[in-house]
Amino acid sequence: MAERTIHILPETVASQIAAGEVVERPASAVKEMVENALDAGAKAVSVEIARGGASLIAVADDGCGMSREDAILSIRRHATSKIRDAADLRAIRTFGFRGEALAAIASVSHLELKARTSAADGVHLSVIGGELVAARACAMAPGTRIEARDLFYNTPARLKFLKTIATEQSAVAEAVQRLALANPAVAFSLEAEGRRVLDLPRASGLLERVRQLFGARFADRLLPFELARDAMKCTGLAATSQESYPTPRMVFTFVNHRGVRDRMLIRAVAQAYATLIPRGRHPGCVLFVELRPDEVDVNVHPMKTEVRFRRSSAVFDLVYHALHDRLADQVDRQAGRVDTPPAVGTSGAAAIPGHVIDRGPAAGAIHPAAEDAGVADSAGAALARIEGAGPRRLSLVPDNPARIDSDQRRLGLGYGGAGISGGLAREIPVPARGPSPIPRYSELRLIGQLFAGFIMLEDDEGLILVDQHAAHERVTFEKLRGQLRSGAILVQSRLVPETVELVPARAARIQAAIPELRALGFEVEAFGDATLLLKGAPAVFGPEAGARLLAEMIETIGDSTGGMRGEEAFEQLLKQLACHGSVRAGRVLEESEIRELLTELDRTEFKTNCPHGRPVHIRFPRGQIERMFRR
Ligand code: ADP
Ligand code: MG
Repeated sequence: MAERTIHILPETVASQIAAGEVVERPASAVKEMVENALDAGAKAVSVEIARGGASLIAVADDGCGMSREDAILSIRRHATSKIRDAADLRAIRTFGFRGEALAAIASVSHLELKARTSAADGVHLSVIGGELVAARACAMAPGTRIEARDLFYNTPARLKFLKTIATEQSAVAEAVQRLALANPAVAFSLEAEGRRVLDLPRASGLLERVRQLFGARFADRLLPFELARDAMKCTGLAATSQESYPTPRMVFTFVNHRGVRDRMLIRAVAQAYATLIPRGRHPGCVLFVELRPDEVDVNVHPMKTEVRFRRSSAVFDLVYHALHDRLADQVDRQAGRVDTPPAVGTSGAAAIPGHVIDRGPAAGAIHPAAEDAGVADSAGAALARIEGAGPRRLSLVPDNPARIDSDQRRLGLGYGGAGISGGLAREIPVPARGPSPIPRYSELRLIGQLFAGFIMLEDDEGLILVDQHAAHERVTFEKLRGQLRSGAILVQSRLVPETVELVPARAARIQAAIPELRALGFEVEAFGDATLLLKGAPAVFGPEAGARLLAEMIETIGDSTGGMRGEEAFEQLLKQLACHGSVRAGRVLEESEIRELLTELDRTEFKTNCPHGRPVHIRFPRGQIERMFRR
């Protein structure tokens, strides 16, 4: 990069650049400044802020620096070293490309810019409201250090829109966090109000960076995934289906290492986890899409956080399958767990829906699991305490409030099952060592049945309770889906057809749904206006289930699928069918029935959750049980 020089883009190019506000709050200024450092090839970037960034943002790097002439040009609008003509806009390989960020920041602050290349002396510029007021020589190591003070001092309207210091600080921390995720090989630090809140040495790869940011317990349970096709690649780390969060804040998506907020990507991720985690909950993953620069347009949003794909549906499929196929078999991580994640390049970027709790002055970015367990308030306190403890990483995973005075114990990101909340969840710690493997249920010691609804199993790590209904639901759902995939749901014909009476008011609606009922494996015919003739039913449920099941499906038709169409509505019906047809809680099972269910469960994909996303099992670690007895 040494030969690059800055020039002002001609008007014809400048006019093609997505217009709008580049700097709307301190976090966006930090993002732009750190991106510049990364574009300059920095190996270490340090960020310092005061009053949430409103009174000071300082970013220092050890990148290529700038010559005196370049430094003076850099604060002008449309001054860039990264593109030359309009054609370059179509294949952007750097974070920056339109030469607006420094100019925008300089025009609303008091800026001190110090830069030095390896070949020349350092230069120190003072800029006020965009006007260069002084340029002098300075001594420094090669690299760049830019300080922006009193952000928005001359635009009171924007100043007014800033939120609390804590909120702005959290937004900055999250911006740095996203850039750090995409650039594991670069060291990052963040200091706020004189305290070190983020300290990330250079990492060997994504997994190590995730460990630095979110803790070992979260990192060690992630599933690495990778899928390449059509000259595109999707790689990353995915939380198992045992984990779910109340907000999408643990979904990090990057396109060519640029953090983006893209509805289609979020949807692909959501769909991959769709039947695995409860409705309304969100998965966790760090996901990178890599494709040729001309496949994606990043010049669509002033803050570069949105993109447009040339082949959007191919990208959707890639992401969906990369995750979904990996989640289909979460068991194999027990055997050959890959410890090095897919390689990630060294350039990166930002901007994902916020990760911020605006609560009290000490609130930092906190982990969503905390809100889930109702501990959001103590998270701020935990963070404050950690900050006070001296330089260490920003704790994004709050301490378990039950053990608030022990730094090492953190609320596990994944306790036993998804979706449990409240007191119990807080009491269930994660197993003491390593990832909690997805059990092979049929190989565990069977203790018996509890409350006629749960199967009790034991393994080396503790007690496992299996929800028999959820388990059976997943087994039948996958069987039905499998049959559909290979043609049609298997039907067991009845020797004697049975009549099913319809409520007259709904008869027409049900008659209209006959094609769906047939597709679901019910051989039905209209028999007069308000009666159906049942000649066969889905075979998986055995010979007796037919008429009762049909009656239940008729009850739900139209209720559960409101607003859904086509495949989605049908999948919903399929879930209903699996649910109605599955062993209910409250049925005493023979030991042989239990064993058969567990064996079938082990053969089933996505076995850890029922089709509605509820967990199939919850684990009670032995240590926890022993502690309850004070042993
Ligand atoms: P852009 O990044 O879109 O080119 P900016 O306004 O962010 O526009 O920066 C203008 C130019 O200033 C960049 O193209 C780059 O040449 C130079 N520059 C900015 N920050 C740095 C830095 N930290 N190290 C080296 N050069 C920088
Ligand atoms: Mg830039």
